[in-house]
Amino acid sequence: MDHQRPYLCPGCQGNRSRFELIFHFVQEVQKDPATGQVLYAADELLPLSRGDRPAMDVRCCVCQFTGHEGLFIKAARRNAPPALQRPS
Ligand SMILES: [Zn+2]
Repeated sequence: MDHQRPYLCPGCQGNRSRFELIFHFVQEVQKDPATGQVLYAADELLPLSRGDRPAMDVRCCVCQFTGHEGLFIKAARRNAPPALQRPS
């Protein structure tokens, strides 16, 4: 899974450990065009996919930067941590 890879926030360039994963789900609805009333709503929420993968965004808990997961993985790859220290 991609979210097992290291992240680095491309916004603040400092956060590597505190993130929120944002998933997108789709619910099909049918509305009355005049009143806006929902006439039908699907029981199931389907994960929205981006190509063949579920669409997932990541938010940095430090600076609130939000973007596609790939941006965080790329930033981490470009900019390796100075030392492999485990946060205590
Ligand atoms: Zn950040």
